[in-house]
Amino acid sequence: MTMKTTIIPEDQKIEIKEEIKRKPTIGVYALTSCYGCQLKIATVSKIIEIADSVDIESFYMLSSASSMHKKVDIAFVEGSVSTKKDLEELLEIRKNSKTLVGVGACALQGGVQSWNHGDKNYKDLFENVYGKSKIEISEAIEAKPIEEYVKVDFRLPGCPPEEEEIIYFISTFLFGSWPEEKDYPVCQECRFAGNICLLIEKNEPCLGSITTAGCNARCISYNVPCIGCRGPVPNDVAWFDSLAKVFVEKGFTEEYIRERMKIFGSHHPKLEELLTKVFGGEKK
Ligand code: SF4
Ligand code: SF4
Ligand code: SF4
Repeated sequence: MTMKTTIIPEDQKIEIKEEIKRKPTIGVYALTSCYGCQLKIATVSKIIEIADSVDIESFYMLSSASSMHKKVDIAFVEGSVSTKKDLEELLEIRKNSKTLVGVGACALQGGVQSWNHGDKNYKDLFENVYGKSKIEISEAIEAKPIEEYVKVDFRLPGCPPEEEEIIYFISTFLFGSWPEEKDYPVCQECRFAGNICLLIEKNEPCLGSITTAGCNARCISYNVPCIGCRGPVPNDVAWFDSLAKVFVEKGFTEEYIRERMKIFGSHHPKLEELLTKVFGGEKK
């Protein structure tokens, strides 16, 4: 039996070799934000080793040579779109990146700056804060998550994201793979951490049951109830029925839980569906 071999032309061989050898290029960008996510990435303990394995083309916090016009393999974008300039920059970043990762609550859920989404029109909100003066703040627009404008390939949640998740994301890209996003709630990690349940045992309005895991129940471990910074957990996971009973039993109304969820999750497309599923019409 003869084996069929494919002969690769010499010039292509070099191209393939260079493609394999080439380090992935990375950009880290910020729209309207507190810069906390960038700071978190910059201070990851293994950042020096990571920086050795990638070419960081842009990182505004660290280098004035950064530019959103440079082509990159992976763009990490923090911040919400809150000005027309943000939007222009985001479109440019998307155009120049093969893979775009939304980083943090501002980018993924609009952040606390979009808390009032759906409650009041933007003009009224703006006037409440800045009065009726004619000032224009960088042509401000209603704060929205980046996914409202561009395709987001991967979501790295948190306010800011956890160090080990940042390392996990970058490592998977380096291995030519991709990160898996969590679809289970904070409660699961909270149980593993051995915390007492603040909801059941202390009657505190902890949102862990309906918030996406990944922080190892950070706040609860410090005796502070979860306020949902990682965004609502995707639907169709277990827990809803039992937790609905607990929220209702503890006297937390659907409206109250909605208000807490909206601090970080007002733009979640399935927020209402999730609340209906949790409360099942048992409004108080
Ligand atoms: S998600 Fe949190 S830490 Fe990140 S930029 Fe927004 S407010 Fe800052
Ligand atoms: S409700 Fe809060 S305190 Fe209770 S298990 Fe879930 S995350 Fe932990
Ligand atoms: S416990 Fe809740 S609020 Fe605290 S970091 Fe985790 S998801 Fe965010």
